[in-house]
Amino acid sequence: MKLLVDERDVKFVLYEQLRMEELCKSPLYADFAQETFDMVLDEAVKLGERAFYPSNKLGDVQGCRFEGGQVKIPESFHEPYRLYREGGWLAMADSPEVGGQGLPVVLAHACIEILGAANWALLMYPGLTHGAARLLQKYGNAELQEIYSLNLFSGKWSGTMCLTEPGAGSDVGNLRTRAERRPDGTFKISGQKIFISAGMHDLTENIVHMVLARIEGAPRGSRGISIFLVPRLLLNENGDWVENDVVCTGIEHKMGIHGSATCVLNFGENGECTGYLMGAENRGMQIMFDMMNEARLFVGMQGLGHASSAYLHALQYAKERVQGAPVEKMKDPEATRVPIIQHPDVRRMLMFMKSSTEGMRALLYLAAYCIDRVRIAETEEERELFQGYVDLLIPVCKSVGSDLGFRVCETAIQVYGGYGYSRDYPVEQLMRDCKIASLYEGTNGIQALDLVGRKLAFKQGRLFKNVSKTTGEILSKVRKNFRLRELVQIYDEAQESLIQLTKFFGLKSITDEFNVPILYAKPYLDLFGEVAMGFLLLWQAHLADRRLQEIYRDHGAKDEEARSRLLRENRSAAFYFGKIASARFFANQVLTQAAGKARGIMNNDKSPLEIPEEGFVLN
Ligand SMILES: Cc1cc2nc3c(=O)[nH]c(=O)nc-3n(C[C@H](O)[C@H](O)[C@H](O)COP(=O)(O)OP(=O)(O)OC[C@H]3O[C@@H](n4cnc5c(N)ncnc54)[C@H](O)[C@@H]3O)c2cc1C
Repeated sequence: MKLLVDERDVKFVLYEQLRMEELCKSPLYADFAQETFDMVLDEAVKLGERAFYPSNKLGDVQGCRFEGGQVKIPESFHEPYRLYREGGWLAMADSPEVGGQGLPVVLAHACIEILGAANWALLMYPGLTHGAARLLQKYGNAELQEIYSLNLFSGKWSGTMCLTEPGAGSDVGNLRTRAERRPDGTFKISGQKIFISAGMHDLTENIVHMVLARIEGAPRGSRGISIFLVPRLLLNENGDWVENDVVCTGIEHKMGIHGSATCVLNFGENGECTGYLMGAENRGMQIMFDMMNEARLFVGMQGLGHASSAYLHALQYAKERVQGAPVEKMKDPEATRVPIIQHPDVRRMLMFMKSSTEGMRALLYLAAYCIDRVRIAETEEERELFQGYVDLLIPVCKSVGSDLGFRVCETAIQVYGGYGYSRDYPVEQLMRDCKIASLYEGTNGIQALDLVGRKLAFKQGRLFKNVSKTTGEILSKVRKNFRLRELVQIYDEAQESLIQLTKFFGLKSITDEFNVPILYAKPYLDLFGEVAMGFLLLWQAHLADRRLQEIYRDHGAKDEEARSRLLRENRSAAFYFGKIASARFFANQVLTQAAGKARGIMNNDKSPLEIPEEGFVLN
């Protein structure tokens, strides 16, 4: 059994649900066909299984070492990274001008899921590099692009994002790093950044940092922040690469992703650190926002990748681990012991993991697919529509991917029992590695504020209305399927709860109780994510049901007995049956709770705000 991703489900989402092969009708993707996409996916699985995955546990055990100001990453990461570079994976969805292959963004994200499931700590290095390279491509001048662009997109050099400081975590606008203007147009950078992923390491010879800093005299707060390209090694007038006064003073000792170096970086301790302005002065925050969608979706993919691998490992274990008698022979001490997959409670946990992972996959791939639709849009209206979907979905993808991904990993440990808690099995590492995703790239609390504070209100709620319209069009087809009638009804009720809650937030936001939507922004985001995944799973159930009925017909399976036999013998039939089961489980176990959750918020309980701090605990 394969243990990274359910490849059949990946292809189901890509081809049967999103119909990504139709992207090839646009001139941008006209050189490709489904066969190309299949080949790429197969290669990603090979790279994941043969190179990334074997180095994952080693990376966890070895971790990163800080020695004499240098950082050594796990030895086992070097070879898979070389293969990754040689395969051109980093720029697979970028334009040929920067050495990319110009493939669809949604395909690149399927590969991120596969490789991330195999070894997230390793994928962090090229993941951040890609963000830095895209920033340079969009905001760097020709000279900087000439020197750095190809080196970054090829993975020869790596990149970082340097935002966080001791006093500036979520509150990035509070940063203290300074940039002093020099006569030659460059800037002298000074300050300290903490928690910088891939800040220093021995994987590449040069590291290109994207650093947020305040130019002397610039306004306080986020309005006065600029962004600078600060290389570790700098090309001097003589054409030599020399150190640029960027010093690593230590690395974090973390709960997970041990192979990813998280560094404290001091810039300009000797007053000799050079930075190059990217974009216009004081536009640093806008530029970061512009680049955020990619980074946040990437982090959501982390949760999905970990969930995917955790589910498959737990499933394999549940089929092999023999423990206990079947429930109908519970009292018979002589009863043959069975694999734990036969116990109802274990099946319930597996269904939670399966339906959650499939829901997340559909949601995150949809966001990536919408980025493709922005790329190939033929009119401004179409472009704006799909950009609106992306903007609305991104905070949900980031938060749901990481939170639900973590819950799936935690459930995998439960399926394993005590062994799951031990280091001899991989699921405890997956859970530790996954946790960080709800924290970095903006905590999930901050994602919720983005959704409720910015995205819902944007253009008088037009983003939300557009989504409702599109889902309505798809649902009108699903409604005709009488076998799914009950699920549609559950979905309708959940969606109505979300709409009522959205209106409630809209009304509260213009009263002196505007802090109620802020208080409940995170549960709102969770509900939004559940309704979105519920919709996507229902849509999948409809597609799967059509295919399953065809298979029954083709095999002349008319009665229950013939159909259950077919389900045991025919893998496609079993797959489609499983898809419908996921939707049923999710609707009944998750969507039915939507009304209660919405009511809990609309009761307008402000106890978390009203309780005095002493009321939390007296001592
Ligand atoms: C392993 C790791 C890798 C990282 N990699 C990078 C990197 O590459 N580059 C980089 O720049 N940073 C990186 N970070 C930093 C990370 O982005 C921050 O830790 C994160 O943004 C949160 O900041 P903080 O830790 O200071 O927490 P705080 O901002 O202190 O937040 C603490 C809590 O308060 C909440 N909170 C804070 N402000 C508000 C508010 N206004 N409203 C509601 N709730 C609020 C938060 O949601 C959180 O629950 C990394 C961190 C780790 C642990």
